[in-house]
Amino acid sequence: MEPAPTISFDNTEVAFQYKTDKQLKKARFLFSAMGKSWLVKMGTRLTPWSIRAGLPVKGIIKDTIFAQFVGGETLDETAIVAKKMGEYNVKVVLDYGVEGGDDGEKGFDNSTEEFIRVIEYAATQPNIPLMSVKVTGFTRFALLEKIDAMMDEYEGTLMKKFLNAVDSLANEEKEEWHRVRHRMMRICETAAEKKVGVLIDAEETWIQDPVDALAILMMDTFNKDRCVVYNTTQHYRHDRLQFLKDSYAAAVERNFILGAKLVRGAYMEKERRRAVEKNYPSPIQPDKESCDRDYNAGLEFCIAHIERIGLIVASHNEYSNLYATQLLQKRELPLDHPHIHWSQLYGMSDNITFNLAQAGCSVSKYLPFGPLKDVIPYLMRRAQENTSVKGQTGRELGLIKKELDRRHSS
Ligand SMILES: Cc1cc2nc3c(=O)[nH]c(=O)nc-3n(C[C@H](O)[C@H](O)[C@H](O)COP(=O)(O)OP(=O)(O)OC[C@H]3O[C@@H](n4cnc5c(N)ncnc54)[C@H](O)[C@@H]3O)c2cc1C
Repeated sequence: MEPAPTISFDNTEVAFQYKTDKQLKKARFLFSAMGKSWLVKMGTRLTPWSIRAGLPVKGIIKDTIFAQFVGGETLDETAIVAKKMGEYNVKVVLDYGVEGGDDGEKGFDNSTEEFIRVIEYAATQPNIPLMSVKVTGFTRFALLEKIDAMMDEYEGTLMKKFLNAVDSLANEEKEEWHRVRHRMMRICETAAEKKVGVLIDAEETWIQDPVDALAILMMDTFNKDRCVVYNTTQHYRHDRLQFLKDSYAAAVERNFILGAKLVRGAYMEKERRRAVEKNYPSPIQPDKESCDRDYNAGLEFCIAHIERIGLIVASHNEYSNLYATQLLQKRELPLDHPHIHWSQLYGMSDNITFNLAQAGCSVSKYLPFGPLKDVIPYLMRRAQENTSVKGQTGRELGLIKKELDRRHSS
């Protein structure tokens, strides 16, 4: 076997090779602004309101935060960014950014058609092996919340609770749920036929149980020979390492490949706030160390069982990304093992993505796209994450400045 390459995330020349000076300077301006928490607080309150009120803010948003984190408003615009990534052996996970919509059944059907269009497009491209979906993109949030709460009233496995809960819905809502299941089936069927993977995003804990149940049903149907469907585990939750292991046990018992995308989680403050407001124990880990410990233990578990698990390391944490490469090397498995893939959000941690690609790993950018008004919740999360996550903005800014200095001193 070839000696393992040494991977470093410090090489900013590799990290930003796809960006011009002008683009880098824009990114420097944006990350400096996001470092100011008062500005982010104000922006995250005012922006959604300004859009709804029809104020002329679209141009400025599109030119700044949207350009940094989103591929475009349409698939055609996004294709340009995706092609650019391909030039550097970086793949793309297409993410049609609709979430938590309240457009009614017609809106949900339209989103489903858009998801299918995304799969069909991805299948024609050499570097788009995956797409992501949010179940709230085609399901009424309140229905998921209701089923989740009903599941708590039953004993037994996740699937047993889920089937009992759906069974006890009133007829009208039962039919509504069947339409949801049918939409998910159509998305996964198309993906299986076109050989594109589907990543099911994890959302808030109070709707997650039916999402997990749906994901397991889809994996049981479509992951018999290869990994088509992936569920997501958020390791800022203290119960997710066990859930990952339980999902693996289900995969062994039912003979399917478990698709596991591991994240830390994006809704921490919202989760903690709700737990206090509604007076129930917080589902979130007591501290960052516990979250990191469970995330890395999740990687260990998946790589130890990589024959039956399709793993996606979805993180900007340098240690976790590197640790996954070391775990593979320890098992003498190649970095381009077909059951492992790394992914970072577009606009963040290019030092990880492009250096992993250079080392021969299968790695992608998670690339959202969609009409501006639909991607606002996503953009507001990115702004908050880049302010509240300790060190993230500082790290991005530091890397950008280092690269600008390097370019102008040589
Ligand atoms: C490709 C990709 C897909 C993603 N998909 C999803 C998804 O489906 N669902 C979702 O929720 N998120 C998703 N995310 C977002 C992801 O959860 C955030 O990137 C994550 O919050 C940042 O964690 P990190 O691993 O990058 O690293 P780090 O920067 O090391 O960790 C920061 C994270 O640690 C956790 N944390 C921080 N402080 C504490 C604390 N005191 N106690 C407990 N935990 C703490 C929080 O989750 C915080 O966001 C995705 C990210 C990527 C890269």
